[in-house]
Amino acid sequence: MNIKDELVPYIINNLKRFDQRQNIFGRMIYDEKADFYQKGIYKNIKKIIKRNEKGYSHLDFAKVMSSWTVYDYFHEAFSWDKLDDANSVMTKPKLKKFLVKDKISITKEIKNISNIFGATQVGITKVNPLWVYSYDLDGNKINIPKECKYAVVMTIKMNPSLIKESPNFIACAETGFVYSKMAFCISCVAEFIRNLGYKAIPMGNDTALSIPLAIDAGLGELGRNGLLITRKNGPCVRICKVFTDLPLEVDKSIEFGVKSFCENCGKCAESCEAEAIQFEKNPSFKVLSKSNSKGILRWAVDHDKCYKFWIKNGGDCSNCIAACPYFPTL
Ligand code: SF4
Ligand code: SF4
Repeated sequence: MNIKDELVPYIINNLKRFDQRQNIFGRMIYDEKADFYQKGIYKNIKKIIKRNEKGYSHLDFAKVMSSWTVYDYFHEAFSWDKLDDANSVMTKPKLKKFLVKDKISITKEIKNISNIFGATQVGITKVNPLWVYSYDLDGNKINIPKECKYAVVMTIKMNPSLIKESPNFIACAETGFVYSKMAFCISCVAEFIRNLGYKAIPMGNDTALSIPLAIDAGLGELGRNGLLITRKNGPCVRICKVFTDLPLEVDKSIEFGVKSFCENCGKCAESCEAEAIQFEKNPSFKVLSKSNSKGILRWAVDHDKCYKFWIKNGGDCSNCIAACPYFPTL
């Protein structure tokens, strides 16, 4: 692995903040011109279950639905404020603000507690405002308090043997389960920071783009499949983050040869039943979908084709994760 002091992990040109309503789920809600307008991925589920194919049974689908429970229903996990509606009968004491005398040691504490709460990897970066969505899915303008300039970015590993089942519901359930782990992890990390008297804004896929933040935080590189490629677990991870005003020591971006490897690989593109991943040798500024940010050098993925495959499949797909040579060995 090569760690460079001044590594610039991506090349951008006139990049603007992305409106979350332009991502594939936003366009499913708002974009009347999209051929997947108002079509959720579970639209065909009854027909799919009736076919009774392996990995697509009613039982398997119940696993998918239940796996998302914490992410979808525990709204407090994403609260920007301290939580105050506990089931516990104990009065919660309020302590004075913790004085940070040493950024390095508080950063170690944050990383350690994040690992304890479920993060596989933890990296710290200054928040690049370009990665913050301009508007959220409900059309609210996003304003991050300017003092929240640090991001604690975390990956959580998915179980490779379950993801290898992709695109069936066994793999979908593992995706949902790790999203639920994300909600657990970010809410606990955020409360840890708030209990020191600092602000914490926990996020899953909402509020800011996770992949560039993870790259900035030194957790991996961007692959041809449009995903974060980590050193140990390749793309077999999910990303979550917490923004904070707690002063932290930032990490450096890393480079371990992903871009040049991707130039000669293309296994993710071969594995994609939707033909949504480019085969071109070199990355470019070309966009393939309204859901691609403009102004960044990379292999853009055609999110329209990808999402339409998800509808046909009745669930999300991880083929381009499982096919990657960086995928962890089973
Ligand atoms: S998730 Fe599936 S459909 Fe989408 S790009 Fe990856 S392989 Fe293709
Ligand atoms: S499958 Fe190959 S081309 Fe695709 S992201 Fe992984 S290493 Fe890159």
